[in-house]
Amino acid sequence: MCPPNLKALGGTSDIFPSDSDAWQQLESLARHTAHLYGFREIRTPLIEEAAVFTGALGSTTEVVTKQMYQFEDRGGRRVVLRPEGTASIVRAFIEKGLDKTGGLVRLYYMGPMFRAERPQAGRRRQFHQFGAEMFGSASPYSDVETIAVLKRILDSWGLTGWKLKINSLGTPEDRSRILDFIRQKLEPHKDKFSPEELERLEKNPLRILDSKEPVCQVLCGAIDFSEVIADESLDRFDQVLRTLGHMDIPFERDPLLVRGLDYYTHTVFEVVHPALGAQDALGGGGRYDGLVQGMGGVSTTAVGFAIGLERVLIALEALKAVPATTKQPAVYVATTDPAEIPEGLLQAEQLRERSIEAVVNLEDRPLKRQFDQANKLGCRFVIVRGAAEREKKVVTVKDMNSREQRELTQADWLATMADLVKE
Ligand code: AMP
Repeated sequence: MCPPNLKALGGTSDIFPSDSDAWQQLESLARHTAHLYGFREIRTPLIEEAAVFTGALGSTTEVVTKQMYQFEDRGGRRVVLRPEGTASIVRAFIEKGLDKTGGLVRLYYMGPMFRAERPQAGRRRQFHQFGAEMFGSASPYSDVETIAVLKRILDSWGLTGWKLKINSLGTPEDRSRILDFIRQKLEPHKDKFSPEELERLEKNPLRILDSKEPVCQVLCGAIDFSEVIADESLDRFDQVLRTLGHMDIPFERDPLLVRGLDYYTHTVFEVVHPALGAQDALGGGGRYDGLVQGMGGVSTTAVGFAIGLERVLIALEALKAVPATTKQPAVYVATTDPAEIPEGLLQAEQLRERSIEAVVNLEDRPLKRQFDQANKLGCRFVIVRGAAEREKKVVTVKDMNSREQRELTQADWLATMADLVKE
C-alpha cells in the first residue's frame, strides 16, 4: 500500500496539457531554428558516471560541491543525475570517436537537468534546458554564429527585452594571469571577507566575482581582466564583438562575467531578462576549447550555450506572450444510443485516417452531457449518431460556433468534414 497524499518532490513539477502545448511549441520552434543552422539533435542519458561532471565542471564549482544528485548505484558505481548538458555531450562525442574525425560537428539537445538547489521562483531541482554545441572551429565567427542561433531562437519565441552580456576569459594562460590578478587585487582587503569568500579567493578566485556581498562587489567592480589578457586574446574578442555589431546582435560588455563552470575559455556570455528578478539569467554559454582534451579526447575546440526553458516561460508570461493553447480535437462523435458506440468508434477512426483530431463518446449517457463534454474540450464540430440518422442514411453535424446543424450523406460526409475542418 502507498502512503496517502503522495506529492511531487519539492522543486520538481508536473506539466499538464494546459501548459504542455506551450512547452511543445517552444521546443518545436527551437528545433526548427537549430536545424536552420545545421544543428542536429543528440540525446544522452540522464544519468552518468560522476566523473563525467566532477572533472569537467571543476571540483570547486557550486554545481559539483553542492548541487549534484549523486549516489551509489546497485553495482557500487558513483552516478549522477546530469546537472547540465555539455559534459555529457563531450563524453558522448569522445566515446563515438568524433574527436578523431575532424570537421565541424553541430549538435543540439533538450531535456531535464537536475540540481539540488533550494527551490524558489526560477530555481528548480528538475528544470529543462535547450542547448547547442559546435565542435571543431576555433574561429571567432563560430562564437558569433552560436550567439546568432541563440538570438534567433529567442526571437522565434517572441521573447523581447532580453540583454546579451559578454566577456572574454582568454586562453588557459590568460586565465592563470587573471587568477593571480584577482588575488593580487583582493588580498590586501582579506580582512573584509567572510570565511566562505576567503576560501573562494584561495581555491578559485573567479568564483569570488559571483559574490553577492556588497563589499566584495565594490572591490571586484574595479577589476578588468583586459589588463592582463594577452593582446592576441583581446584581438580575438574584439573580432567577436565587431562581428556581433555587423550582424546587428546587440550586446553589453560585462568585465565581471565569468559563468559558473570552470571549463570556459575566451568568449563567455549570458542572456538576462528583467522579468526574472533575482535569478535573471535565461541562458548562457561560451567557448570551452580545453574540455574535449581534458576529458581524454583529441584536442577539439568548441563553443555552445544552454537556455533554461522554465525561465523562458516566466519571461514570456510577464510579456503576456506565452504561446496559446491551440490543440483541441476538431470533432466530437456523440451517440444517442449506446448501441451506436461501436459505429461511432469506426467513424472517429475514419476522421483520424484523414488526420482530423476526433474524440468519441464511450459511455451510456444523455446527449446533453456529451455536448457539454464537447464544449469543454473545445471541439468545433459534433457529429450525432442515432437511430434516425441510421434510418435516413445521413450524418448529422453541428457547428458549435454557428450552432448550425446539417445533414451530410454517407457518401460524402468524410470529404465534407475534411473541408469544414480546414476552413
Ligand atoms: P547554467 O549553465 O547554470 O548557466 O544554466 C543555464 C541556464 O539554465 C540558466 O541561465 C537558467 O536559465 C537555467 N537554469 C540553471 N539552473 C536552473 C535551476 N535550478 N532552475 C531553473 N533553471 C535553471
